[in-house]
Amino acid sequence: MIRQLHYVLRILLVSLIVLLPSIAGSQDKIEVLGLRHWTSKGYTRVVVDLSAPVEFLKNRISNPDRLYFDLKNSRISKEINTALPVGDGILKTVRAGQFNQDTVRVVLDLEEIKDFKAFILDDPAQLVIDVYGQEKISKTQDAAPAVKIIVLDPGHGGHDPGAVGPNGLYEKDVVLDVALQLRTILSKNKRFRILLTRDKDVFIPLVERTAFANSKNADMFVSIHANASAKKTAKGIETYLLNWTNDEEAIRVAARENAISLKKMKEQMKKYKSDVDIMLSDLRRDLKRDESIKLANYVQSSIVSTLGENYNDIKGIGVKNALFYVLFGARMPSVLAEISFISNPVEESRLSKESYREHIARAIADGIDTYASGAPQMQKIAGRK
Ligand SMILES: [Zn+2]
Repeated sequence: MIRQLHYVLRILLVSLIVLLPSIAGSQDKIEVLGLRHWTSKGYTRVVVDLSAPVEFLKNRISNPDRLYFDLKNSRISKEINTALPVGDGILKTVRAGQFNQDTVRVVLDLEEIKDFKAFILDDPAQLVIDVYGQEKISKTQDAAPAVKIIVLDPGHGGHDPGAVGPNGLYEKDVVLDVALQLRTILSKNKRFRILLTRDKDVFIPLVERTAFANSKNADMFVSIHANASAKKTAKGIETYLLNWTNDEEAIRVAARENAISLKKMKEQMKKYKSDVDIMLSDLRRDLKRDESIKLANYVQSSIVSTLGENYNDIKGIGVKNALFYVLFGARMPSVLAEISFISNPVEESRLSKESYREHIARAIADGIDTYASGAPQMQKIAGRK
């Protein structure tokens, strides 16, 4: 009897040892949920949708020329299409497969590329791969060389209301109205072509907004948001550009706009520092950061002075840096304006008024116009408090 029990126990123990790693393994694995791409002349963005942020290795190999990304501790969903034909002169195909038990390999078969960048976003978790073609886009070759393309990006939309004011005002509605008014104002200037990432109440993922601006070869990208803080008294206007920051407030604002927790935002800043550093050094090299600083300063000072002419307690917080997903990978001068605090009852009440939103739209238009006319730079970034 004892011997039999011993035998049964041994079988149980052996099966547990055999089964446990596979049970635990399949539960831990990050799932690859889909492949998507946006394409245009000289630029392709590939997005790999994931169940959670993943660590990856990247490599480029020849014969045939391809890029691959090995996603650690991952498995591929059986339901997804694992081969995506592209054929845009930059990429032939994108494909994904289970490379070994723990690794999914995503392969980009190349036609001709100049450069690429890859980074991970959180919630929804995505591996974003931006691939640049050999052809340098030249504005002078465009049919209408004097027309600057400006992409306006009203934040949030659809199921994502953005920040909600104490009296129930939605950020998504305020910023859409400002963007629509801004389009009307800027469209009067024949030098501008105005495009919106959304012109109605729909949700657009952050990666699609930048991809849209890149694919249109835009000259400027202006994302419009309303600020929020747990402190009801927090108020004022601030304009951001993409860069590292240690400013706790700026990190908090970016976390909220990225729709992730402050904790996750900080974890991510640590974890993907090297990828983000590469992206930022490219921005410096291309002088896009200097241009973004310039644009941010014109927009910021214009909003503060225009509102200041009409209200006596307008506070300019300044131009600041933070890591906003919506600015990641943008190939043109790009800024994100926080036009007022919707969480502040006074500013919420103002934001609910057509006249206040019109002042802001006119002010942003003036800032863009001043920047586009190439006025000399005389601005600075606000220091840390
Ligand atoms: Zn927002």
